[in-house]
Amino acid sequence: MGNPKAFLTINRKEAGYRPVMERIEDFGEVEQTLNREDRMLQASRCMDCGVPFCHWACTIANRMPEWQDALYKGKWQEAYEILSQTNNFPEFTGRVCPALCEKSCVLNLHNTAVTIRENEAAVVEQAFLEGYIKPNPPKRRTGKHVAVVGSGPAGLAAADMLNRRGHSVTVLERDELPGGLLRLGIPDFKLNKKIIDRRISLLSAEGIVFRNNTEAGRDMSTDELLEAFDAVCICTGSGQPRDLNVEGRKLKGVHFALELLRQQNRIVRGETIPDDEKIRLADKNVVVIGGGDTGSDCVGTSARRKAASVTQIEILQKPPAEYNPDTPWPLYPNVLKTSSSHKEGCTRRWSIATQRFVGEGGQLTGVEVKDLLTGETETIKADLVFLSMGFVHPVHEGLLDDLGLAYDGRGNVATGSSPSVTSVDKVFVAGDATLGASLVVRAIESGRRAAEAIHSYLAGTV
Ligand SMILES: Cc1cc2nc3c(=O)[nH]c(=O)nc-3n(C[C@H](O)[C@H](O)[C@H](O)COP(=O)(O)OP(=O)(O)OC[C@H]3O[C@@H](n4cnc5c(N)ncnc54)[C@H](O)[C@@H]3O)c2cc1C
Ligand code: SF4
Repeated sequence: MGNPKAFLTINRKEAGYRPVMERIEDFGEVEQTLNREDRMLQASRCMDCGVPFCHWACTIANRMPEWQDALYKGKWQEAYEILSQTNNFPEFTGRVCPALCEKSCVLNLHNTAVTIRENEAAVVEQAFLEGYIKPNPPKRRTGKHVAVVGSGPAGLAAADMLNRRGHSVTVLERDELPGGLLRLGIPDFKLNKKIIDRRISLLSAEGIVFRNNTEAGRDMSTDELLEAFDAVCICTGSGQPRDLNVEGRKLKGVHFALELLRQQNRIVRGETIPDDEKIRLADKNVVVIGGGDTGSDCVGTSARRKAASVTQIEILQKPPAEYNPDTPWPLYPNVLKTSSSHKEGCTRRWSIATQRFVGEGGQLTGVEVKDLLTGETETIKADLVFLSMGFVHPVHEGLLDDLGLAYDGRGNVATGSSPSVTSVDKVFVAGDATLGASLVVRAIESGRRAAEAIHSYLAGTV
C-alpha cells in the first residue's frame, strides 16, 4: 500500500454540490468533482485495513483497498480494472449509491471515511475519458438464447454477465428507453441520462439486443417467451406503489411520486407532456408524504419547478442527527439524512400521520395531519400531494401471474434453493422483483447472481 499514515494529515474532502441558487435553475447533476491530484490524495487516506469493513459492507464486494491504492499511485486504469471486476456499472453507483462501504469504513469511527463513492465515480469517468472502456464482445457464442425482462440495473447486470458468457441476450423493456428507475425514476440532477445511454451503447456494441416498447406478457405472450428462449430472467422491479387510502384520496392533486418523477425525466429529455396530464408545480403548495429517497427526489423536483412551498412529512420519529446506539459502526447507521434536495428549501416534519385529504370542488386544498407526539390535529395547505411511501411488491397482474410464479409472504417473486431460481422451470428472477424495493447496488448484485444461476442451468441442458 502507498501511504499508511496519510489519513493523519490529509482530511476527508468532498467535492460538494453546486450552489443552491444555481442548481435549482436546471436539472444538471448537482455534485461537483475534485481535480485529479486531490482525488488521488483522497484515495491515499485508505489505511488498507487488515479487516476491510468497507469490503464487508459492499453488496457487490468491491475491493476498495486495492483500487484506492492504485488510484493513490496514479494508476487510474489499474484502479478501473480492479473496480470493474466486481461492479458492472460504477458510473451509476458512483453517483447514486448511499455508499454502504463508507458507513463501515474504519475511518468513519471519526466521521472521516474515505470518499469511496466519489473516488469510484472519478475512476470510471476517467476510464471513459481516456478511452480504455471499449466494447469487448464475447469470442464465441454458445447458441443459447436468454430473455431478460426489464432493463433496470438488475436486468442490465444480468444481461451483461450472460453476454460475457457467450449467451445471446435480448432485453425486453416496456418503456420507450432502457434503464428502469435509473431512467424514469431517479432525477437527472442525481444521474444525467447520458450516463445510461453511454452504457447502453456499449452493451449493444457487445451484442446485447434491446427491444424497447415491448411489454412481456402483452406485446409478447408468456407462451412465446418460453418458447423463443432457453431461459428467462424476470427483472421487472417492484412496481406497486404503497397507497394511502384515506378520505379524499381521489381528489385532483393527489399523485404517486413516480407520476411526477417519470414525467419530469421525460420533460428533461425534451418530450412534450399532453396538457391534461402535465403536473403543474409553479406557485403551488406541495406536500410530500414519506421521508425517504423518493420523497427527497420529489422535493428537489418541486424546487426546480418553482413550487411556492414544499413540506415533507414522515410518520416515523426523527432519527438522531449523528449517532444512533441501535445501529453502531460498522452497521449502516439509522441517522438523519439530509440530501442535496433538502438543502434547496423544504420544511421537514416527523411523527406526522395523515388523517385525510381535504378539498373543494374535487380539487385538493389541504392535508389534515395528526402530530403523533402532541396528539394535535392541523391542516397543512396543499395544492399537490406526492405519495412517496415506498413500494409493496412487483405488479402481479400480467406477466408474473401468467407465468404462474409463486410469491413470498410479502408478495415478491419467491425463490427456492438459490436466490435467483423461481418456482417455474427455466424462469429466474433478480432485483427489486424478488428483493422488494431496494438499492441500485443490490439490484446489480442480484442480476450478477441470477446470471450465474442461468449459466449453470444452461450448461446442464447442453
Ligand atoms: C424515485 C426513486 C429514487 C431512487 N433513488 C435511489 C438512489 O439514489 N440510490 C439507490 O441505490 N437506489 C435508488 N432507488 C432504488 C433503485 O432505483 C431500485 O432499487 C433499482 O432501480 C431496482 O432495479 P431493478 O432492475 O430491480 O428494477 P427497475 O429499476 O424498477 O426496473 C424494472 C424495469 O422492468 C420493466 N418492466 C416491468 N414489467 C415489464 C414487462 N412485463 N415487460 C417488459 N419490461 C417490464 C420496467 O419498465 C422497468 O424498466 C430509487 C428508487 C426510486 C423509485
Ligand atoms: S475500511 Fe476504509 S480505510 Fe479501511 S480499507 Fe476500507 S476504505 Fe480503506
